[in-house]
Amino acid sequence: MNLLQSFIGLFYPNICSGCSKGLSSKEQTICVSCWSNLPKSYEYKNLTNHTAKLFWGRYPLENAFSTFLYYRGNSLQNMIYDLKYRGNQKVGEVLGKEVGKEVLLSNIKIDVIIPVPLHPAKLQKRGYNQSLSIALGIQEVLNCQLNNEVLLRKVNTDTQTRKTKFERWENVKDIFGIENKTSLENKHVLLVDDVITTGSTIEGCCHSLGTIKGIKISVVAVASA
Ligand SMILES: [Zn+2]
Repeated sequence: MNLLQSFIGLFYPNICSGCSKGLSSKEQTICVSCWSNLPKSYEYKNLTNHTAKLFWGRYPLENAFSTFLYYRGNSLQNMIYDLKYRGNQKVGEVLGKEVGKEVLLSNIKIDVIIPVPLHPAKLQKRGYNQSLSIALGIQEVLNCQLNNEVLLRKVNTDTQTRKTKFERWENVKDIFGIENKTSLENKHVLLVDDVITTGSTIEGCCHSLGTIKGIKISVVAVASA
């Protein structure tokens, strides 16, 4: 263990991100028990899965799926909390690799991976974009380009859970912007999110990306709630 690792170890004790039990020397980030109990959705095997259906009539996606099932009290919920609020970017990468394996299995030919961006103010507050951590794990498996600069979040939206679908749409349709449109012309992009709930954030991204000539969009997430 080098000095940097020991230093990081002060802040990230060697405990499982799912159950907080101590990890053995052979385990990393997630313990064997939590791994084997993580419920997979197998949505990637079915084009008309729950996540894909969320976007029917909203944007014509090439493909959409989530890898895991997410419900109150399961260890995945702890992992997502760890990723979003406790600075555990590693668990995002580990889960992202599992998402990437399913992209490979579903034979989607991706040109560019794009994580859902955070607003700069939120990025500064959190210090990192959790969707980028997941995207890095996916990239490790797919070995293709990752673009973290082209899609920008212009508006810092508040929580959208209590709004109606129409209000949400009005709220999301102009919150994203694009920096360099030509770089994505005729490309198949893979949008990456952590947990998809209403789908309105992804819909907002698609509204902006969809203005690019010849673009094809697929969507993946660690889970959808
Ligand atoms: Zn565990």
